[in-house]
Amino acid sequence: MHHNTPLISTIVVGLVLAFVLGALVQRLRVSPLVGYLLAGVVMGPFTPGFVANQTIANELAEIGIILLMFGVGLHFSLKDLLSVRAIALPGAVVQISAATVMGWGLGWLLGWSTGKGIMFGIALSTASTVVLLRAMQERRLIDTERGRIAVGWLIVEDIACVLTLVMLPPLAGLMNGEATTGGLDFATLAWPITMTLGKVAAFVVLMLLVGRRVIPWILHYVAHTGSRELFRLAVFAISLGVAFGAALLFDVSFALGAFFAGMILSESELSQRAANETLPLRDAFAVLFFVSVGMLFDPSIIVKEPFPLLGTLFIILFGKSFAAFAIVRLFGHPTSTALTISASLAQIGEFSFILVTLGVSLSLMTERGRDLVLAGAIISIMLNPLWFALLDRFLARREATQVAEAPAADEGTATREPLPVSKLTDHVVLVGHGRVGSVVSAALRQVGTPVLVIEDNPGIVERLREQGIDSLSGNAAAPDMLQAANVTSARGLLVAIPDAFEGGQIVAKARALSATLPIIARAHSEEEVAHLKFHGATSVIMGEREIANAMLAQIAGNVAAALRPKPAEQGGAPSAA
Ligand code: AMP
Repeated sequence: MHHNTPLISTIVVGLVLAFVLGALVQRLRVSPLVGYLLAGVVMGPFTPGFVANQTIANELAEIGIILLMFGVGLHFSLKDLLSVRAIALPGAVVQISAATVMGWGLGWLLGWSTGKGIMFGIALSTASTVVLLRAMQERRLIDTERGRIAVGWLIVEDIACVLTLVMLPPLAGLMNGEATTGGLDFATLAWPITMTLGKVAAFVVLMLLVGRRVIPWILHYVAHTGSRELFRLAVFAISLGVAFGAALLFDVSFALGAFFAGMILSESELSQRAANETLPLRDAFAVLFFVSVGMLFDPSIIVKEPFPLLGTLFIILFGKSFAAFAIVRLFGHPTSTALTISASLAQIGEFSFILVTLGVSLSLMTERGRDLVLAGAIISIMLNPLWFALLDRFLARREATQVAEAPAADEGTATREPLPVSKLTDHVVLVGHGRVGSVVSAALRQVGTPVLVIEDNPGIVERLREQGIDSLSGNAAAPDMLQAANVTSARGLLVAIPDAFEGGQIVAKARALSATLPIIARAHSEEEVAHLKFHGATSVIMGEREIANAMLAQIAGNVAAALRPKPAEQGGAPSAA
């Protein structure tokens, strides 16, 4: 290389390798997260070849953490949490305690101090939001009772994790056994904890009193300028600025600052837009976060420490799952629900990484412990889809025997929610219920034509269902979606979404199902019209051309009206028009 550019090479090599390995493992039906971690391992000091700059990678990872936690705050919904609090709260608390005790037990066997053992256990206790949400979405479980419980459970774990991040620094001394020499000195312990809680409280009060007014005001102001670029910049400036300011002024972790900034934004109606704006950058930095964690991982631990690693994996895969299973059953939920929740939580991810990083910096975790957690995370994320597959098989077999003996009592036993095929026939399948789709569906229903809507936005689907309108939630390009809409028996398919590239995929899939189905699609340029026609659209409506025609028609009407002689000029003669 001509220049010494460690920042550029870390970002570029990190993203490129993560992309290649992510795509590769995705083909093997493993979460791309594993690919990102492996990219880090390849770039790390423990494997031959290119070694990226760890200090720079760590700083990039911090930005990833800020943006991830900002996203967690944005999606934090007190309402969702309250609706499942009866099970999610005790469930998460019991599970976290069980994992911590088991981790401490393993640490004890390995000869670690109590403090290090507890830290190890805590790091094993929180599941990855990214992995869980992806598994739930892929199985269409988000809208189900099981999905809501799992997500609520995760929110409680998130909160517990945020609290741990806050409390660890002041408690580090005690956990390391410093304060216990000469008895438990309450004063030396109470002071730093009070200070920390005081600073956190000051930050929270400031955010609630000032941030809550100022942040939405800034966003509203910027939204009205109409500049999308400025709006994006505002969202990033707020998330990064609040996190940085919180750390600088209040000694609060970046993560907590960002979480709060997100939470305050989530109260405003602009939150959806704000959330969307952060996605691309958040994804890029989250990838760099996983890469930097992978760089810390020494793969030789697998051969050097097989038994401690097996113990760690046992806690993540079976110990935590068993605790979750037991408590869900105890609350009277069916076995299938308990098993699905156990499977979705039988992994660890980003929170564990954040915790081990902090643990090592506070001397609360050895590098060996960190490597065990990292190896446990990588392997458990890899095994997670396998867990679900085994569960599918187990439940299918159980259902078969149950059906033979007596009708099954559990509702929805499979871990993959099946998509029932709509019974509608001679209906219109409408993809997208936004500005265009909503007008179309209202008009069709007015003339009594049955409509089935496929819509990506769960909020819209919920509202449609409340109005009694048949709708499927999800991306129309996803497998089985068009079949579930019974598109082969439909009168026609209207693809009313703005993205013609995705529209093309939907059109092609529908055309493959039926050669004669009338398909009408929406486009915004001549190229898009050609693209959609190429994939099999019967006709394509180009929005901009229709707007132009409508404008012309109106102005033409006005011109005609202006040219039309007025009654006064005609001397009261009857109008010729
Ligand atoms: P509008 O541009 O206002 O007509 O809105 C388009 C609507 O289509 C939005 O409500 C989106 O959520 C929805 N949408 C976009 N892409 C898809 C897709 N692939 N499948 C289902 N709905 C979609």
